[in-house]
Amino acid sequence: MALQNGNTKKKLDIVVVGGGLVGSLEAIFLAKRGHRVSLYEYREDLRTTPHVRGRSINLALSVRGRKALKGVGVEDHMVNEHGIPMRARMIHRPDGTTYSIPYDARTNQCIYSVGRNYLNNILLKESENYDNVKKYFNHKLIKSNLRNGSLTFLKTETNETVDVTADLIIGADGAFSAVRKEMMKQPLFDFSQQYIEHGYLELCIPASEDGVFQMPPNYLHIWPRGNFMMIALPNQDCSWTVTLFMPFKNFKDIDTDEKLMIFFQKYFSDSIPLIGEKKLIEDFFGGSPSPLVAVKCRPYNVLDKALIIGDAAHAVVPFYGQGMNAGFEDCYILDELFRKHHDNVADILQDFSDSRWKDAFAISDLAMYNYIEMRDLVTRPSYRLRKAVDDF
Ligand code: FAD
Repeated sequence: MALQNGNTKKKLDIVVVGGGLVGSLEAIFLAKRGHRVSLYEYREDLRTTPHVRGRSINLALSVRGRKALKGVGVEDHMVNEHGIPMRARMIHRPDGTTYSIPYDARTNQCIYSVGRNYLNNILLKESENYDNVKKYFNHKLIKSNLRNGSLTFLKTETNETVDVTADLIIGADGAFSAVRKEMMKQPLFDFSQQYIEHGYLELCIPASEDGVFQMPPNYLHIWPRGNFMMIALPNQDCSWTVTLFMPFKNFKDIDTDEKLMIFFQKYFSDSIPLIGEKKLIEDFFGGSPSPLVAVKCRPYNVLDKALIIGDAAHAVVPFYGQGMNAGFEDCYILDELFRKHHDNVADILQDFSDSRWKDAFAISDLAMYNYIEMRDLVTRPSYRLRKAVDDF
């Protein structure tokens, strides 16, 4: 196909590992520049699989992510046809009364609730428009040599292995990245990870019997309770994805239906009729809380051969709603660098690695801080808030 963006440089063979949100977006950006992209994904094609419990069902899309989606022509659809605007936080007090705090009362900017699978789906579908993108599902990266661009994948359906070589490897394989594990063997690679003592469990407020939202939809609903909190984001079918964030110890202590109902009566009583007692018990005991990890590392590249982006490079806790958005921004920035350095991979990777980590570390720290803001400080008068921020 014709090269876009006036790019006349040599076409590269690029392997993107991970076909999640960030990998599938990156594949499109690279294809637009005319490179030959092979996208390898561990799981089966999600376009043919029902949602698997354990990943957040919906996400808040912000201006960072939107800018990147615009770059591949899907922003308008995601925001105007699919996304549900959330213009303010709706705070639920323990007595069930509510009040709202706008995100941006001055210029009316907002964030959008979008479906994770839907967005991933749209990106994979968009990549079909480029015949220089090949996708391989059910392929798990099990071995790589990042210095010479060789990779070995396990075909999970047949247990066969496949050897592949690439001019450039892009690791977009998430918080537990196999590409990053290989990078850790390189000299001068800094790495730290932090699990927080809180986990999360997803519950659901269904649509009402007549098929409408049971709470005002254009809000991110928050039940802040000091050391823990619950939030809810609207879904396109008028249901709500409700996420309870709490220390693992507290989850463990709630081990009977009765204890669960006493806990909910005390802290989230207004949500019980919305979720329904039977569904609450089923969903709470039907799943187990998932851990939350933050990863900081650098540099993000190995020579001119390999780069990590998205959660593989900078997994953050979800309290700022910026993990995916920052990963999408990586793709946007990389595209700018391809332009700036005329597809010279050595310069692109060096520039990305040297500059990106500062923002990535900053968003990670802000996300850690925002958990305290969301579950606690948001309810406090400002003079107490000042003190709590100082203490933090
Ligand atoms: P992933 O989504 O993890 O995708 C990685 C892909 O790589 C997966 O498809 C995986 O199967 C594949 N893979 C893994 N290992 C291999 C291998 N060895 N070989 C081949 N493929 C492999 N972010 C926001 O911006 N807004 C939000 O509101 C928000 N809410 C969140 C709520 C929760 C509860 C959580 C946990 C996260 C939230 N996030 C949010 C963060 C967001 O989910 C992540 O930042 C985002 O999914 C990162 O995308 P990714 O493509 O880098 O990684």
